[in-house]
Amino acid sequence: MTPFILVLSSPSGGGKTTIARQLVTNRRDVGYSISATTRAPRPGEREGEHYYFLPRDEFMRRVSAGAFLEWAEYGGNLYGTLRGEIERIHAAGRHAVLDIDLQGARQLRGNGAGAVEVFVLPPSGASLAERLVRRNTETAEALRRRLDRAADEILAAGEYDYVIVNDDLEHAVQQVDSIIEAESRRVHRLAHLPETLQELRQAVETEARTHPSVNAGS
Ligand code: ADP
Ligand code: 5GP
Repeated sequence: MTPFILVLSSPSGGGKTTIARQLVTNRRDVGYSISATTRAPRPGEREGEHYYFLPRDEFMRRVSAGAFLEWAEYGGNLYGTLRGEIERIHAAGRHAVLDIDLQGARQLRGNGAGAVEVFVLPPSGASLAERLVRRNTETAEALRRRLDRAADEILAAGEYDYVIVNDDLEHAVQQVDSIIEAESRRVHRLAHLPETLQELRQAVETEARTHPSVNAGS
């Protein structure tokens, strides 16, 4: 089966990173696309695991070199998906999960990457604010900016292929899991379908000629 790109977007704090990490843990056929960013690492974030942390001039050098499938500015920092990441994941036969913002998803849509796009909504405004506060990664000012931005981003959910609500985490992961299952069965992704169908057709024809119960009266 031809692996595909799965985009997960949500307002900051919506839970896309948590869902993406859980999917990678649960499924062998999914790989997490590690983005490059100019933002400083948060406590506990490790180079090459959560992000590739790059100085701005190095990030822009890679933009000029065409190394990014998409990139965008968010909260004064640059974020981007490296083409090499997707190649690495697809070469291993896995679907690539991209935890990216709305601008990145729009760029992918424009360049014909054939990505499956899922928008993750918080169950309520209060729970979004509460989760962001509890994550304890932003200053009060950055929190306000992220929430202001979230209010606008939510309206873009209708541009995506699927919308899920991240109320119970396990249920949300299950729903994305089901989307991956369904998308995996799409006819155009089944690279060996014609050969499989020919073989099965021949096998059924053989049964018609040779099965004892079918041929009992002839
Ligand atoms: P995002 O990547 O969209 O900014 P995160 O995945 O970092 O969001 O989630 C924000 C915070 O909310 C994290 O602390 C995470 O553990 C928590 N969280 C995510 N999903 C749920 C959920 N369904 N219920 C409760 N807390 C959640
Ligand atoms: P954070 O600073 O919370 O890790 O990420 C901020 C925002 O940047 C989130 O909406 C996240 O999805 C987005 N983001 C992370 N990596 C990328 C990327 O490679 N490309 C784009 N366009 N956005 C990204």
